[in-house]
Amino acid sequence: MKEDKDTTKQDVPAMNTENISPLFQAALNASVSGIIITDNSLPDNPIIYCNKSFERISGYNREQIIGHNCRFLQREDRSQEAREQLREAVKNGESVNVEVRNYTKEGTLFWNELFISPIKDNDGKVTHFIGVQNDVSDRKKIEQELRFEREKMEEKVVERTESLRLSQEYLESIIETVREGLLVLDPDLKVLTANEEFMRTFKVSRSETIGQKLYELGNRQWDIPQLRDLLEKILPTNNPVLDFEVEHNFPHIGQKLMLLNAHRIELEGSYKDRILLAIEDITDRRAIEVRKDDFLAVASHELKTPLTTIKGYVQFAQRLLPKDSEDKLIDIMDKANIQLDRLGRLIAELLDVSKIQSGKFELHRDEFDFNKMVYQAVDELRQATESHEIEVSGKIETKLFGDEAQLAQVVNNLIANAIKYSPKANKIKVDISTVSNYVKFSVKDFGMGISINDQKKIFERFYRVRNIQQQFPGMGIGLFICEQIIKQHEGTLWVDSEEDVGSTFSFTLPLGTEHENHGI
Ligand code: ADP
Repeated sequence: MKEDKDTTKQDVPAMNTENISPLFQAALNASVSGIIITDNSLPDNPIIYCNKSFERISGYNREQIIGHNCRFLQREDRSQEAREQLREAVKNGESVNVEVRNYTKEGTLFWNELFISPIKDNDGKVTHFIGVQNDVSDRKKIEQELRFEREKMEEKVVERTESLRLSQEYLESIIETVREGLLVLDPDLKVLTANEEFMRTFKVSRSETIGQKLYELGNRQWDIPQLRDLLEKILPTNNPVLDFEVEHNFPHIGQKLMLLNAHRIELEGSYKDRILLAIEDITDRRAIEVRKDDFLAVASHELKTPLTTIKGYVQFAQRLLPKDSEDKLIDIMDKANIQLDRLGRLIAELLDVSKIQSGKFELHRDEFDFNKMVYQAVDELRQATESHEIEVSGKIETKLFGDEAQLAQVVNNLIANAIKYSPKANKIKVDISTVSNYVKFSVKDFGMGISINDQKKIFERFYRVRNIQQQFPGMGIGLFICEQIIKQHEGTLWVDSEEDVGSTFSFTLPLGTEHENHGI
């Protein structure tokens, strides 16, 4: 409601209810709004008229209302901003619309939406105020509930935003901590995040990386066919890409060998289908490995030549020994010979490793008697060991096609290990059997066993289980060579083991003649 100055300027008679015609009284009483009139010319602006609705809303009857200033409706609840506004409006003779907390006669709070409007005489002096009021408690309650809900909502949004910020920071700190270059890509292979290591390795800046498509980065230097295959063909099959080597000549940084690992995030939600691509620059590491392999090849070759010569001299000296030489001298020469053979075997193993590394390891296949080869190897080992009894069971009915010497080396190695790594036991079980069209060979010991973690690594070259290194001699290459030999025979070598119970090393080889194996 807006104040209309002109209509308020009326020739107002001294007002009492008798001045209001019955028709107007009836009209005022019919209003659902409470209506009061106060007389501003009297001290403390008392109420001189109220309609029926005002009595209903306030709970007071007319006699209890007339003559009072409106403030009785607020009781002790005086410090309301709305009251201040009302006082100002009355003082200035203006109209105002406020929402004020009032109390019924019973003391129940109700929100009163109050509009007061001054009535002025011809001189512009405010003689009366008319107040129109409505109980808006229900609306107020809904408003309050809404406000409460909104505040709760806002709190939740703040909390959620904070937790998102924290998880974002958490993820970013993980990404930055990773030692490899790491890219987070969206499903269209656009870079969403790149860590510092990526920028450092590939000499690019953040601004030229983020938001770019992977293949378009740095003059399309990442447009590598192998990488395309990986991301477009392999990843969509939901298989992670693990340790995939890619060699590429980058314009700024030259030839690089990279190890790629890629995962697609399959979780439902906002990270779905993002791709994590970890890129490790292994150029230097590989160069060092190559140097080590080269050194190994040269060293074992250089050691072999003088060893052969010494061995020749020792054998020559043995032959020169007079028949009646002292036993001690003969014994010393025999022992020197045995140690030279041992050294020869170690050097031969090192040479084998470097041949395997350089792809020059060759097999000389022929038909041979597998049973006989195993029994011979066992006999030799029986002579060399007093601590263990070696039991052999089973045999195969046919001959085998393969490199007898190399397979004998495998059998020897596995049985020698079984003896070496079961110092507290006294039995080794060897078994030969036919399984489908394979020969299966197993060596079972009752020794220290191998942890699950180590079982995965013992076939790697130079790997030795940590806690046995001091106690047992060895170079950690025996099983590596064995596995390569078996692989080259199209067979498999594996271990079943339990710590402190024992290990069983087994291999299978396809049965069959040269003709069947090679279709010659
Ligand atoms: P080496 O015996 O010279 O160390 P190998 O390659 O033959 O090298 O074996 C690698 C490692 O595997 C050994 O160092 C040892 O820790 C473990 N290993 C091999 N055979 C056995 C076995 N029968 N029982 C327990 N551990 C074994």
